Amino acid sequence: MQKVYAILLRQHIGVVNKPLVKVGDVVEKGTLIAVPDGLGANLHASVSGRIQEVTERAILIEADPVQPDGFKPISGDGGILDIIREAGIVGMGGAGFPTHVKMNVDLKGGVVIANGVECEPILEHNIQQMIEDPQLVYNGLRYAMQAVNAAKGIFAVKAKNSRAIAALKGVIRDKTIEIAELPDMYPMGEERAIIREVLGKLLAPDQLPSAAQAVVANVETLSRIAEAVDLKKPVIAKNVTVAGRLKSGSGPQVFRDVPLGTTVAELIETAGGIAGEYGEIIAGGPFTGQSAGLDDVITKTSGGILVTIPLTAEKRKMGLLVCACGANEERLREIAGKMGAPVVGVERCKQVLDVRGGIKCENPGNCPGQAEKVLKLKKSGAEVLLISNCSDCSNTVMGVAPKLKLPVYHHTDHALRTVNHPLIRKLKS
Ligand code: SF4
Repeated sequence: MQKVYAILLRQHIGVVNKPLVKVGDVVEKGTLIAVPDGLGANLHASVSGRIQEVTERAILIEADPVQPDGFKPISGDGGILDIIREAGIVGMGGAGFPTHVKMNVDLKGGVVIANGVECEPILEHNIQQMIEDPQLVYNGLRYAMQAVNAAKGIFAVKAKNSRAIAALKGVIRDKTIEIAELPDMYPMGEERAIIREVLGKLLAPDQLPSAAQAVVANVETLSRIAEAVDLKKPVIAKNVTVAGRLKSGSGPQVFRDVPLGTTVAELIETAGGIAGEYGEIIAGGPFTGQSAGLDDVITKTSGGILVTIPLTAEKRKMGLLVCACGANEERLREIAGKMGAPVVGVERCKQVLDVRGGIKCENPGNCPGQAEKVLKLKKSGAEVLLISNCSDCSNTVMGVAPKLKLPVYHHTDHALRTVNHPLIRKLKS
């Protein structure tokens, strides 16, 4: 077990948390150690021990050699929304928006969609949670429905995940809760894509799900709500998938309840250790993950730790095609740099829109055509392409680029090759 756990004061969307502890303080697993001074979520100690250091970035806890199984409970006073706030729950599917803020809506009989899509390839922790613990997720969905005054609950799961669907069917005892089976494409798990598929409403990029009388919550987030309400448990751990170039084999391994602040190095060692030379460590999924280091730590929004094979060396002039739901320009440039290719042109899919300081897709996963962008990149002097497009748009690029004699890389290639997963190219008909 590692000795020191760094609990980052900024783990997700919102402000940097304000520490409540000082060096030398003794904390229990579950002690409240930092609070947000604005938009954010409470932070609790993930291990019992002593505060070693408090910096602007993190609270470092020197862990006791023997850790208790239990935890210090939250008070659990008030309604469901108060409990969610007190427990420090955030969206665990990626961005980490504070759940007590997201669920502070009155849907007036609308719907809560449990996001069990897990649209990133390789990741399996959400699927496994539904298979192993469907009751917990189901209870969380019911509590979320109460919190937002929803009359209906829908589990959104890919049809291919039949074991998860069977497990959920085994616990659903309520006619107001059903399962929607979704196609296997990226980005099926994007909030607006789910709402479009499940409710038949396409929201504008700047609209929130509440515009469709809906709230979308990841299945792990829902399980944490159930733990907070039923067990008075704060968020002190995260479920994570580890995969890639490991001595134990490349397939996904799911680790439930990894303490926050666990280093990437420690988690990889637990998973078997790195097998020889590697390319990148990706924190997250192949599409939206970022490169990480061994000293980085698990936070409330960690999802995957992927150790990849070395990236393909490429010296030809490269054109980048950016998707709003995959890698952004910065990440594509990083990958091009690691491959060794000079970047001579950058284009965005024409459905990419600037929204509130970030980029969003007008209609996620429905290709608007890519021929014009591919031609522009060719005119910029590109001899090869690096794209971050969704499944549908990658399919379209593959209908155009080879005719122009432009070989195509997808930014997920090195991660997918590592685990022998089919590459994102032509869709199977
Ligand atoms: S349509 Fe374009 S922006 Fe939208 S998901 Fe596909 S590639 Fe990305």
